[in-house]
Amino acid sequence: MTGLMAGTAAIENFPGTALHPGEPAYDQARAVFNGMIDRRPAVILRCMTTDDVVAAVQYATGAGLPLTVYGGGHSVTGSAVADGAVCVDLRGLSGVAVDPSARSVQAGGGLTWGELDAATQEHGLAVTGGRVSSTGVGGLALGSGSGWLERALGFTCDNLLAAEVVTAAGVRVTASAGENPDLFWALRGGGGNFGIVTRFTLRLHPVGPLVYGGMLMYPAAGAAEVLRTWRDFMATAPDALGAGLAFITAPPADFVPEPVRGHPVLGVVVCWSGPVEEGADALAPLLAAAPPAVTMVQPMPYTAVQQLLDPANPHGMQNYWSGDFFQTLPDEAIDVLVGLATQPASPLTQVIVVPSGGALGRVDADATAFGDRGAQFNLHYLGMWADPADSAANIASIQALRTAMKPWATGQVYLNFLGDEGQARIEDGFGPQKYARLREIKKVWDPTNVFCHNQNIPPAP
Ligand SMILES: Cc1cc2nc3c(=O)[nH]c(=O)nc-3n(C[C@H](O)[C@H](O)[C@H](O)COP(=O)(O)OP(=O)(O)OC[C@H]3O[C@@H](n4cnc5c(N)ncnc54)[C@H](O)[C@@H]3O)c2cc1C
Repeated sequence: MTGLMAGTAAIENFPGTALHPGEPAYDQARAVFNGMIDRRPAVILRCMTTDDVVAAVQYATGAGLPLTVYGGGHSVTGSAVADGAVCVDLRGLSGVAVDPSARSVQAGGGLTWGELDAATQEHGLAVTGGRVSSTGVGGLALGSGSGWLERALGFTCDNLLAAEVVTAAGVRVTASAGENPDLFWALRGGGGNFGIVTRFTLRLHPVGPLVYGGMLMYPAAGAAEVLRTWRDFMATAPDALGAGLAFITAPPADFVPEPVRGHPVLGVVVCWSGPVEEGADALAPLLAAAPPAVTMVQPMPYTAVQQLLDPANPHGMQNYWSGDFFQTLPDEAIDVLVGLATQPASPLTQVIVVPSGGALGRVDADATAFGDRGAQFNLHYLGMWADPADSAANIASIQALRTAMKPWATGQVYLNFLGDEGQARIEDGFGPQKYARLREIKKVWDPTNVFCHNQNIPPAP
């Protein structure tokens, strides 16, 4: 039992733990993935139960203090923390319960994808999840959720069956197709705007435990030709083939040929979730048309594929991100992309090309709040560097890349990959009609915009 003080307001009987500035665990608790973010909440309320979350929301709103929600702390904008705010820390809500017969999982609002994948894979089941295992289920799923399985299973939010939500009024409700369907619609892509999800119920599918996965690596010199070949290959590839293309800098690892270590290369991450013995045949046309310099693809645990990118995404680096959707990538666009992406300002920077299609496009366009399902490619410009002194050059280089690619972009944007780029870009993420509908739903569930530290949707006037 902890009484807590924030500013001049006081709350007694908060059932969780409260951390104040100066307390030993405070600095560690306020840190987020993006090392550029250094914010000092008035208090961090560590919640273990839904009742704790109810108490935290009631405290913040009663005291008139701003409120943030900390899921996995991976938002590049650092929206999990704000100066002087009450940080509702969900990391203690990490329960996970798989129901193999119903093929569903109940996941706490502060669970990570590594934890969820580990639990569901014990039963040979999975749902589309984040590509880096430390990412929070909460922020990723509410922003729709893109992952290697999406062409087979749809976004994470396409598999949301129900959510337990603490509203801005501090009330616990359920959102599902049958209960509060407007809220349920908005939660599937609308981000953290509508309440705090304390429990997600997600549909599971048979996947693994072995999939045919790994990475192909190509030298930067032939990258444009490889990208064209891959683009054409993915246009007719089976849905079970999840494959993202990544401009990266080759790590100094034994498996990398010595001459390319430390140099820009093109990687193709592969996650074939069909019958594992059919994976090699599915990939064969790509390997024949564009033979890789290094082939590291084999039967491996799905959980290993889900952690392939972990080493390339260390916590605490400086991060500046942007992204855009593309209906197609014509040859000219590929030349521009390759020209810039193979000359990154930092060896940690990654430019990822995610192919859409498959199950993503089979979900009715209006079924969820998610914006654009029609675009064929989702480009993620992920600027990452170690030294804050290099920020200006790195930010300029990501902005230059985005500007150069703009002529071919659809104008819509994937909100999970978007940094702080202003309200118009958030609206672009949904398109005008869905944005207007979301504003009306926001007016019902959060009329005073308590949940404003996010990709914000202001309530309709
Ligand atoms: C290394 C890395 C890899 C990534 N990979 C992918 C990827 O493969 N696919 C993809 O789609 N995105 C990816 N992302 C983006 C990621 O999905 C978003 O940044 C997401 O917001 C992170 O969620 P979080 O809970 O970790 O973050 P947080 O910073 O804790 O939360 C971000 C916001 O989400 C909301 N939120 C979080 N949890 C809850 C909850 N339980 N209830 C209500 N609101 C909540 C809050 O508004 C909060 O401000 C990645 C990000 C990183 C840093």
